Amino acid sequence: MDINSSNIEEIVRQVLDGMKGNIAPAAPAAGGSIPQKARVAMLVKPEKFELQEYALPTITDDDILVKVECCGVCGTDAHEYKRDPFGLIPVVLGHEGTGEIVKIGKNVTKDSAGKPLKVGDKVVTSVTLHDDPDITMYDLNRQNVGGADVYGLLPDDDDHFKGWFADYIVLHKGASVFNVSDLDLESRILIEPCAVLIHAVERAKTTGILRFNSRVVVQGCGPIGLICIAVLRTMGIENIVAVDGEAKRLNFAREMGASATVNFKDFQGIEALAGGVKAAFGGYFADFAFQCTGSPVAHANIYKFIRNGGGLCELGFFINGGDATINPHFDICSKEITTVGSWVYTLRDYATTFDFLKRAKAIGLPMEKLITHKFPLEQINEALVTNLKMEGLKIAVINK
Ligand SMILES: [Zn+2]
Repeated sequence: MDINSSNIEEIVRQVLDGMKGNIAPAAPAAGGSIPQKARVAMLVKPEKFELQEYALPTITDDDILVKVECCGVCGTDAHEYKRDPFGLIPVVLGHEGTGEIVKIGKNVTKDSAGKPLKVGDKVVTSVTLHDDPDITMYDLNRQNVGGADVYGLLPDDDDHFKGWFADYIVLHKGASVFNVSDLDLESRILIEPCAVLIHAVERAKTTGILRFNSRVVVQGCGPIGLICIAVLRTMGIENIVAVDGEAKRLNFAREMGASATVNFKDFQGIEALAGGVKAAFGGYFADFAFQCTGSPVAHANIYKFIRNGGGLCELGFFINGGDATINPHFDICSKEITTVGSWVYTLRDYATTFDFLKRAKAIGLPMEKLITHKFPLEQINEALVTNLKMEGLKIAVINK
């Protein structure tokens, strides 16, 4: 048979018709098709992020490609942005991120808690423990994240997509990743800071002093103190006095569940301030105290708010804030105070945090109001400057 162009057209039409209905088109990646190149916000020198575009790497059988939806700005990011104290520059920062899986290697079937993972799922990352890859989240009760790797705090290399301040992030084998598809975007942005408080309250519980009916004082109403109040409320603790120097923050503390507030600016000297806290509890000192500021003076003060035999959790000093002067006789020995320190979190705390966020929503705590500023990736420098100016509470970088 003589094949001419019209025959070929006919054959092609027949073949295409035959394909209709029995060959599904390639499943489109969630959130649109995957581009060849994508942007990262590279911190190239202190106080200067630059948007840079790189080819997205090949996703191997062990990798996950995540399209970034949003990433919170952490105090750690602000420190690194300002002076590079961790020596990471050049670096793509952002570790409080969340996004959607758009491509997943065939060897990756479950998240770090054993939940199935697939394209379209919403995820967050936590810490990567290279020194002991056999550690699972259930072994981690005694180990916090000090010394572990965190996506968003790794110096730049040929990979580039190692931080959440970007369009995409590539997660490799060993990365801890959690499927959080059942949480809304605002909740997912708040997971990392909330995990810090879940850990602190777990530490506090080890004293045996923190109970449902405890009188609890929370000093400092930044994001950490406010979330502390929320965690206590979801546990059923209702007698909470918040201490801060700003009326606006104290009002927010009430919305988060504080039963009374004390503005330290209304009092002259620590004796008067301690009297103010006592009055706010109806004539009692606190059974337990959470110290959520980075101020050494605030650390010294908080002992005066606690009853004999009470407890203290100190969690305000993420970085060295200097020495505090206390009186060991009056503040610790004669009062028999039980003190615990708390720093960051464990992987186990992450799983607890997801449930906390659902409970907080269920009892109507306005967690989403903690996110006071949202910036697009193009304005990441403004986002960090806003954080450094201590304006607002949680600042987030949002991708469209
Ligand atoms: Zn952080």
